[in-house]
Amino acid sequence: MSWELVDFAQMASWLVSNVANFLLILTIAFRVWVVLWIAKDISLRTNSFAYQLFSILIGLVPIVGYFVYLLIRPPFFLKDDGYWRESLELQSIVCKQCDGLNLREWDKCGWCGATLKVQCKECKNLVWNDLEYCTWCGAPLLIEENGKKN
Ligand SMILES: [Zn+2]
Ligand SMILES: [Zn+2]
Repeated sequence: MSWELVDFAQMASWLVSNVANFLLILTIAFRVWVVLWIAKDISLRTNSFAYQLFSILIGLVPIVGYFVYLLIRPPFFLKDDGYWRESLELQSIVCKQCDGLNLREWDKCGWCGATLKVQCKECKNLVWNDLEYCTWCGAPLLIEENGKKN
């Protein structure tokens, strides 16, 4: 009888120490995961090495590090930033004569009056003069030959 009791006590202590080890391993694994996740996330948000290093160091702080990182990280991904700039560029056109910035919906430059469009030789439609191909028929635009004929 006493033999069974000892066995049970041993088993219980073995179980307790193993559960403690398991929790410790889980905590360490979680910390490593957080740091790896932050390293990946921050590299998509900034190119600044100092910023990246600082974020990873913050991630090493137990528990609060992860939440502090969520507060200090840049709000946008780098690629989203790029799309913003691209979409703005699509809506604007630089005058070839005075370098003034104009909206694409304007036909003439608001700063010097020069025309912002050229006529396609193939289909005779007006096309913005900073493009390489006609947006109506796809013919290549030879800017020098087209001149400033409206
Ligand atoms: Zn102009
Ligand atoms: Zn054309």
